[in-house]
Amino acid sequence: MFHDLLKRCDFLGLPAIIFMTAMIAVGKSVWADDLSARFYGSSTFLFDDGKSQILIDGFFSRQAYNPLWGRFSPDLTQISEMVRNTGICPGATDDARIQEQCRNGKELKVIIPVHRHYDHALDAGVLALWSGTKIIADESIRAVVKASEKLSSGALGLRQWKTPNMQPPFLSDNANRRVLEDTGAFRVTLLRGQHIRFFGTVLANGTTDKKLSFPASLRAFRLGTSFNVLIEHDDRRLLIIPSAGNLEGLIEDPPENVSTLFLSIGGLDIHGYRATKRYWQKVLDAIDPKVVYLIHWDADTKPFDFEDPKFTPARKLIMRRLFRTIDKLKTPDVDVRRPPALKPFGPFDG
Ligand SMILES: [Zn+2]
Repeated sequence: MFHDLLKRCDFLGLPAIIFMTAMIAVGKSVWADDLSARFYGSSTFLFDDGKSQILIDGFFSRQAYNPLWGRFSPDLTQISEMVRNTGICPGATDDARIQEQCRNGKELKVIIPVHRHYDHALDAGVLALWSGTKIIADESIRAVVKASEKLSSGALGLRQWKTPNMQPPFLSDNANRRVLEDTGAFRVTLLRGQHIRFFGTVLANGTTDKKLSFPASLRAFRLGTSFNVLIEHDDRRLLIIPSAGNLEGLIEDPPENVSTLFLSIGGLDIHGYRATKRYWQKVLDAIDPKVVYLIHWDADTKPFDFEDPKFTPARKLIMRRLFRTIDKLKTPDVDVRRPPALKPFGPFDG
């Protein structure tokens, strides 16, 4: 391909050579048209530009549970199916299907659990140990990784787990943002964030116990560090706000020029109309996106059917009422959507 480009430049002369070389050197436009997002429910996303992948959360073990006394383990069968069926590239493997889908050297660059509750962090340890890739890990995620080491890697066709590359979310307690290194043509920034509160408190606050082991109760997964994620690619910007309700920190210093916003509405159904209106207006005024994708509203208690993947709203009736509320609040200058289940889509498509 490189030779072809040079041959064409021969016809066009020196300015064309300089232009093409500059485009290749900065890595722009080459992958722009291939950029896709894939939504797995909750706030799990895969962003893929054909060369690099960014995984948000990576929560795939959807299982029936009772939040009060259920105990969970990562479901290695579901994790493996998700990786194999949706084109995730977890690094060197003997698996022929994964080798095929990642044959151009495509690579998972980083796993970013946005906070450490079970519906974000349950599978993060298994994915980090499978891929050996960089994972954003505070003390709570380190506990999840350690607990995951005791699971059998054989179920994923691995003789042994790899060593994950654990990186702290922020470089100091006072820091509020961090740009991650080595993320291909993506520029990924973590912005310190807040979790939604119920009756003034965050459920399962604090740090996950070092002695976490599977199966674990829902309450064993403590909040840990919480953040929003800003992703830039080819001069376009998207923002993920994975927990609704409290925008402290974000609206005082909002990122500029965000065209697509992935906005959690989980829990707003419990807060009611006035809180929803306040939240909606604050976030839209501060970020001013063109497109809003509503996320974290689905029930995560059933594995996906790959033949016919679809989401069912959690707490169906009140969640439907919330959708109607948002319908009333939205203005014509913002396009409000729900992402498709498991199918890749263009996050910047108009
Ligand atoms: Zn949470």
